[in-house]
Amino acid sequence: KTAEPPNLTAIAEKVKQGSMRELAKAITFIESNAGDHYLYGQKLLQELLPSTGKAIRIGITGVPGAGKSTFIESFGTMLCDAGHRVAVLAIDPSSSISGGSILGDKTRMEKLAKHSNAFIRPSPSGGTLGGVHRKTRETMLLCEAAGFDVILIETVGVGQSEFIVRSMVDFFMLLALTGAGDELQGMKKGIMELADAIVVNKADGVNKQLAEKTKNEFNQILHFLQPATKGWISKAYTCSALKNEGMDSIWSVIGEFRETVEKSGVLNERRRRQTKEWLHTLIMEQLKNNFYRHPYVKDQISQLEQAAMDGDITPSQATESLFREVYGDK
Ligand code: GDP
Repeated sequence: KTAEPPNLTAIAEKVKQGSMRELAKAITFIESNAGDHYLYGQKLLQELLPSTGKAIRIGITGVPGAGKSTFIESFGTMLCDAGHRVAVLAIDPSSSISGGSILGDKTRMEKLAKHSNAFIRPSPSGGTLGGVHRKTRETMLLCEAAGFDVILIETVGVGQSEFIVRSMVDFFMLLALTGAGDELQGMKKGIMELADAIVVNKADGVNKQLAEKTKNEFNQILHFLQPATKGWISKAYTCSALKNEGMDSIWSVIGEFRETVEKSGVLNERRRRQTKEWLHTLIMEQLKNNFYRHPYVKDQISQLEQAAMDGDITPSQATESLFREVYGDK
């Protein structure tokens, strides 16, 4: 006997009223990979979609040790104390490989985790990075429907994860460390071009002066880069997450950013484009999964791999023969 299906409309209603228990339940559905629970998650999301979109979505990246969790603890607590409701999500590229999760861990943000205005969800674990992407994006929407007005999405600077976070946030921030000019040069230009702000952390004690110098160097580099957001000049700032300094000015910068892009229509344009790209990402994922799950492909793939490696057939021919069988002659 199968379990009684849940009353999704009732759950959606309670999520909208801000019930943390129902939000957690909805996220559990969203995080399942297939089957009934996955479908419940999608139905809930459909129902809640009109209540989404009101939050400011902020992405935060930086190398391990840059101070991301310390920053989120300080910044998030400041906002929660001021009456904001802050949801912290994470995309951990290693979670899809190891199943472990190093980001968005509650134990790293003890004070914030206890705050009644905060909600911290670690990176979904297991599955592909594509799966982690979907789950985080959809969880963000659920959090918005539940009334969170600030979404912080954390990621570590590895591989595609920064591009994934950029593709779902309004404002993208790079948390950097003080360092010699050489290190700045070594920093991936591509990542700097994604950033709406570069924040040099640990500007305290003996490090303070060096942080100012690093900030100026970043500003010089930013001057020559493509702006991450049309009509917005990305700049570098300093802060001390540990000493709780500079948090309010970063929030002001984000406020200014929001005002600018709302007025110019760039925010709306970006979100629409993100949704369109998201749709295509899902199509690609689905196509890939369907293709590899097709019985003929499953049956033939290892033989074709072997034949290609042995040089008996070209990879193009192998691909074509699979596609002909799966999709017909066109
Ligand atoms: P994450 O790996 O980017 O999340 O970095 P963490 O937040 O765990 O910070 C790494 C280390 O840097 C910890 O020992 C922090 O206490 C320290 N740290 C973080 N922010 C600051 C800061 O503003 N000033 C100083 N002096 N240390 C900091």
